[in-house]
Amino acid sequence: MCRHLAYLGPPRAVSAVLTDGSHSLYRQSWAPDDMRGGGTINADGFGVAWWPGNGVGAVGYRNAAPIWSDPAVGGVLAQVSSSGVVGAVRSATDGMPITTEACAPFTHGPWAFSHNGRIDDWPDSVAALAEWLPAVELLRMPALTDSALLWTLVHRRLAASSPGDALRQVVGSVLEAAPGSRLNLLLSDGAGIWATAVDHALSVRVDDRHVIVASEPVDDEDGWVEVPDLHSVEAWPGHLQITEIPGSRPGED
Ligand code: GLN
Repeated sequence: MCRHLAYLGPPRAVSAVLTDGSHSLYRQSWAPDDMRGGGTINADGFGVAWWPGNGVGAVGYRNAAPIWSDPAVGGVLAQVSSSGVVGAVRSATDGMPITTEACAPFTHGPWAFSHNGRIDDWPDSVAALAEWLPAVELLRMPALTDSALLWTLVHRRLAASSPGDALRQVVGSVLEAAPGSRLNLLLSDGAGIWATAVDHALSVRVDDRHVIVASEPVDDEDGWVEVPDLHSVEAWPGHLQITEIPGSRPGED
């Protein structure tokens, strides 16, 4: 299963956010510690998004090749810095396309989004969910993957809901339709980070100047908090709120 992270704080080289730390996202691409639900390495591509400022939204760079094979990581991405970065390395779920378009983060306007996990019984389980979306929105899905559908659902909710509510609502509907799903969602607008932990690892570290939310801690420094299952996170420098996601998986007490 994929690994992802989001950083907010003083501007850093985009590549440094991916590669710094004894257990960086870069390293997690071939040596993750806590993969659950299958998959051993994250070699089906990677992506990174950042915010150039001056009102420009999130911009991104993605590649369907393994992160360790891409010279941009030590090259051009070392020359770009930002106060916000979202990164993801991918282990494609069986049967899903291995293409650049299928790599997270997905970006639109100010938003960058990533999903770590899978929708159970894809795509049959979510036929009902997809019916809620006008066909034209399905045509706008960046790829024919569960993660792209989740992004389409989340993006639609963002028009009417806060980012945290949008994530929790989508998790609630998808768990109802496909109870065994693993739904670690990660969303940022460059000023805040919102995330969910649903049957996958997630940790967060916050101080007054920085925040980092990551599938696995990127170093062994103090301060990492493990996010409990079925909880959501809202974080920015100096702020951390961990909230239980209402309801539980159908069939559970
Ligand atoms: N199911 C998603 C995909 O195939 C995410 C994969 C993952 O978390 N390993 O892109």
